[in-house]
Amino acid sequence: MSIPVFNTASDIFSYVAHSRAAGKTIGFVPTMGALHQGHATLIGQSAEENNITIASIFVNPQQFNDPADFDRYPQTFDQDLHLLEANGCSAVFHPASASEVYPEDAMRYLSFDAGQIGEVLEGKHRPGHFSGVASVLKRLFEIIPADVAYFGAKDYQQWLIVSKLVSDLHIPIRLVKVPTFRAASGLAMSSRNTFLRPEELQQAPRLHQVMHEAAEALAARTMLSVVRAEAIRELQRDNIFTLDYFDICSAETLQPLDQIHPHQDVIILVAAYLGKVRLIDNLSVRIE
Ligand code: AMP
Repeated sequence: MSIPVFNTASDIFSYVAHSRAAGKTIGFVPTMGALHQGHATLIGQSAEENNITIASIFVNPQQFNDPADFDRYPQTFDQDLHLLEANGCSAVFHPASASEVYPEDAMRYLSFDAGQIGEVLEGKHRPGHFSGVASVLKRLFEIIPADVAYFGAKDYQQWLIVSKLVSDLHIPIRLVKVPTFRAASGLAMSSRNTFLRPEELQQAPRLHQVMHEAAEALAARTMLSVVRAEAIRELQRDNIFTLDYFDICSAETLQPLDQIHPHQDVIILVAAYLGKVRLIDNLSVRIE
């Protein structure tokens, strides 16, 4: 028997209410589908830590600044259901249409300003993206009032914004950050990787390698400006990638750093096009 799929907000809301009334703890994993092993780790961790795990599959139009990116976003619903079931998911929210999530104009639901952390990096390169992310998550947390929600470290800036959303609006949900799942090559799993051509798949792990080399250079106390310049030079070599940004930032504020203090939490973040595919990745570094 396959897991239940709810297509309306009221049906999934009742399912959650009944589960809660029966004393079950509920974990929630919001996704846009086209699921892969990265999503599977979130589902698996939730299934281990809660009685019930709910996944949502909703390609949220509000968070796409590029309509072409939205139109071609991969949809693999039948495969997704198998992956969810195999990893211990209990039920799926797959809205029949965007109006299940936003009965009225989406932006009426939220005016959330994440401040500086929303303006830099992805915020700068994808205008409107994070207000779309914040709107949909606020709505999903209303429709699926779970105990815990799981997010990937892969989207680190999104993690900071969701954390701020939940804390600023006093949303009664606990958040868990799950480490990035990578292929053996180091390439971070992403739904958009399916668009990479075979030769690009060979080249893509370079993003992670360059971040890793930068982290090692920082640990060896190389000057930050030198590390940054070298990494950018490496990423621009042979014009394989078109770089949106490579930055070494405070893990709390996402402000670029000039130097690193001992015991500071630092994050290296990168976004680059490889052919038509935009890849993002990050690596946490802590210099002792
Ligand atoms: P998406 O379907 O891309 O919106 O992603 C849904 C959730 O899965 C988000 O919290 C992502 O950060 C997370 N995620 C995506 N890729 C990975 C990965 N490679 N490892 C861990 N989590 C991931």
